Amino acid sequence: MSVPAVVLSGTGGVWQVRDAQGAVHEASMRGRLKLPGGLKLAVGDRVMLEHDGGVTIGEVLPRRSSLTRRAPGNRYDSRVVVANVDQVVVVFAVVKPEPHRRMLDRFLVVAESNEIPARIVVNKVDLDPRANEQFADYERAGYPVHYTSVKRGLGLVELGSVLAGRVSALTGPSGVGKSSLLNAIYPGLNLRVGEISESVNKGRHTTVGALMHPLPDGGYVVDTPGLREVGIWGVDGAMLAACFPEFRAALGACKFRDCRHLTEPGCAVRALVESGQASAERYDSYARLLAEVEGSGS
Ligand code: GDP
Ligand code: ZN
Repeated sequence: MSVPAVVLSGTGGVWQVRDAQGAVHEASMRGRLKLPGGLKLAVGDRVMLEHDGGVTIGEVLPRRSSLTRRAPGNRYDSRVVVANVDQVVVVFAVVKPEPHRRMLDRFLVVAESNEIPARIVVNKVDLDPRANEQFADYERAGYPVHYTSVKRGLGLVELGSVLAGRVSALTGPSGVGKSSLLNAIYPGLNLRVGEISESVNKGRHTTVGALMHPLPDGGYVVDTPGLREVGIWGVDGAMLAACFPEFRAALGACKFRDCRHLTEPGCAVRALVESGQASAERYDSYARLLAEVEGSGS
């Protein structure tokens, strides 16, 4: 008899898997089991477990989505950081620490390029009532923005309702309040403050993989160290502009079909920015990321 389960953590060898009853087992892959196309098992994968003395992963179910990064040290090889993510949730604070827009734009491009919907959480609104102005560009671009305060209990019910039952890759710099938010929404969860790791601590990337935290309502929050490096893998220059939703309407309208939207005449994307319909800051992020992807040759 085999039972469905979800891979919570692990990297090769032993995997922590959680079955539908919530029991967590240590499991290994059945000896000869191969995934289609030589894929490797990843955190977030849905599997079928066989209890045959030990617990064995006998089957890996097809993936709905994956967050992919370049394999360390190999420019042409990729690695799935986490499978079956329903949404990327990027958390920033209004202040303390000051929001880092380039980092936010990078996370949004990572989500777009993996075709995973993204939403933004702006926490600590108790510290600055004008939070909405800072993030208006993102609302105009079509991203859901949640304004929250753990301290004042603002926006927590709404945020809880969009996490419920879904697999969310939660990311954002250290100290913005990710653990505090989860503890406030799910009082039994008892995450240590600071437990949901930051994604900027490079030292951890190579050793620590993604980690799924089960939520009481059936959802999961995935802690993804290294999401920043998931980077812009597999996005070429021509695809990058389409990862900015507010640019999409203009993309067919440039004078040159291979327009890079930098200095070319008759550029419809730049026209959007010049007329104020798209944000100059977002455009600046586009230009920087373009230089990065063109420079790296990926
Ligand atoms: P993480 O590193 O993103 O998990 O952030 P933590 O949850 O550890 O929070 C970092 C610090 O911010 C802690 O001292 C929290 O008490 C504080 N904090 C979290 N949320 C809020 C908030 O809504 N308002 C204020 N003023 N402080 C907060
Ligand atoms: Zn253009």
